[in-house]
Amino acid sequence: MVILLICPECGFKNRKYAGFCEECGYDLRYLPQNQPTTTRSFTWNLIIILILLTIVLVLLIVVSRLFLSNLTFTS
Ligand SMILES: [Zn+2]
Repeated sequence: MVILLICPECGFKNRKYAGFCEECGYDLRYLPQNQPTTTRSFTWNLIIILILLTIVLVLLIVVSRLFLSNLTFTS
């Protein structure tokens, strides 16, 4: 997957680690790396982690309740 870095000077789509713009030679090394694609994937990662955490929590609650009910049945 090639991540593109759009030159603020001429709008040319460069590869991320090109260093300089391939079209006008603008220095791209000191640009902030907050591109919409990376932020979107970061938020999606957070959502996936939250969903997984809730699934684990629900499973833990269900398992603990089953375990407690088994204990009450046996004792
Ligand atoms: Zn450029």
